[in-house]
Amino acid sequence: MNLRARVVIVGGGVMGTSIAWHLARAGVRDVVLVERDELAAGSTSRAAGGVRAQFSDELNIRLGARSLEAFGRFGQEVGQDIGLHRVGYLFLLSTPEQVASFEAGVRLQNTLGVPSRPITPREARDLSPLITTDGLLAAAYSPDDGHCAPEAVVHGYASAARAHGARILRHTEVTGIELDGDTITAVTTTSGRIETDTVICAAGAWSRAVGAMAGVELPVRPLRRQIAVTEPVPGLPPTLPMTIDFTTSLYFHGEGPGLLLGMSDPDERPGFDTGTHDRWIPRLAEAMTRRAPALLDLRRTGGWAGLYENTPDHNALIGEAPTVSRFLYATGFSGHGFLQGPAVGEVVRDLYLGRVPFLDISPLSAGRFAADAPRPEANLV
Ligand SMILES: Cc1cc2nc3c(=O)[nH]c(=O)nc-3n(C[C@H](O)[C@H](O)[C@H](O)COP(=O)(O)OP(=O)(O)OC[C@H]3O[C@@H](n4cnc5c(N)ncnc54)[C@H](O)[C@@H]3O)c2cc1C
Repeated sequence: MNLRARVVIVGGGVMGTSIAWHLARAGVRDVVLVERDELAAGSTSRAAGGVRAQFSDELNIRLGARSLEAFGRFGQEVGQDIGLHRVGYLFLLSTPEQVASFEAGVRLQNTLGVPSRPITPREARDLSPLITTDGLLAAAYSPDDGHCAPEAVVHGYASAARAHGARILRHTEVTGIELDGDTITAVTTTSGRIETDTVICAAGAWSRAVGAMAGVELPVRPLRRQIAVTEPVPGLPPTLPMTIDFTTSLYFHGEGPGLLLGMSDPDERPGFDTGTHDRWIPRLAEAMTRRAPALLDLRRTGGWAGLYENTPDHNALIGEAPTVSRFLYATGFSGHGFLQGPAVGEVVRDLYLGRVPFLDISPLSAGRFAADAPRPEANLV
């Protein structure tokens, strides 16, 4: 294979396919997306599917809200049913510090048009009946949030991108980036060479290696996270919100007739291993005992592991490298990238085309760490 492309996108997860669709739909010809496995095979297919605008950082609120709008019109616009459940996100808060932080977040979200609100523990239990209110001080709820099917989003974007002329190469690994001075001239892959002057890195947890091919530092570290799925839960309300105990990080939402649940594991160390193990179960059971004892009676019927793609401040890296012409990147979403896929695709399209994006993304550039300007996000799960 010897190809010539205007743009080569590395990675076929939500970011790569969203960027491909946005570029191809804007009329950019010869867009080539390269994925070494199947589409969505990286973190995207392992995500819990949560979509929300309830963040502390204005950029994340705006990226989340913009994406929620796009998920809402995905069927008409991209032509794929993504199983969107607009059931809301419910954060359960048990310390005065959490309450103060979420109240500030709600105020900021409201100024940006997000209809989140603080609610009482009693109201939280009415929305999410499997929880106990013992020790709860308050909750924050946003009815526009929810969850949808990550693989459907990727396949929707990929099919629509192809329909607009983009080319998608699966089972093809990018192995190098050729440069002439500071100008990209080609990408080498396991299937041959692609002549191009533009690379967009959307390689998720593996982005550090892709950046290094062009001499660009992308500080992304992989961290395994696990998910469990339960047997059907009798009487589960179809409107059950994505429920998060902020103290323990235990979260759950409806998944078919059962539940999907997850939690962070402080014993996990950075690495690319995506095998499942049961070492997290005692801590998960402890969190359930504390916040949702009804979950302890449910049989686990399945589960999986995937990688968070963490940066030092747990916020995304989006921008264009100043040292190489033209290397763009959208990575390091630190566990909240699925929900930003649509908006980031739009932003990267505009960065590529030299248009002004709908928000100033420059504070998320990878250069912020060297400039000692981190961008921490407080509402992390
Ligand atoms: C358990 C879990 C739960 C999560 N829950 C949520 C959630 O509820 N909401 C949310 O917003 N986010 C969630 N996330 C995070 C979310 O999955 C990621 O932020 C998002 O999927 C990142 O998408 P991506 O396209 O950047 O990366 P990926 O989906 O990982 O795609 C990158 C792709 O690049 C490919 N690739 C890498 N190197 C190369 C190469 N050299 N050549 C070719 N291809 C290459 C990989 O094979 C991969 O397919 C969760 C993650 C996990 C693990």
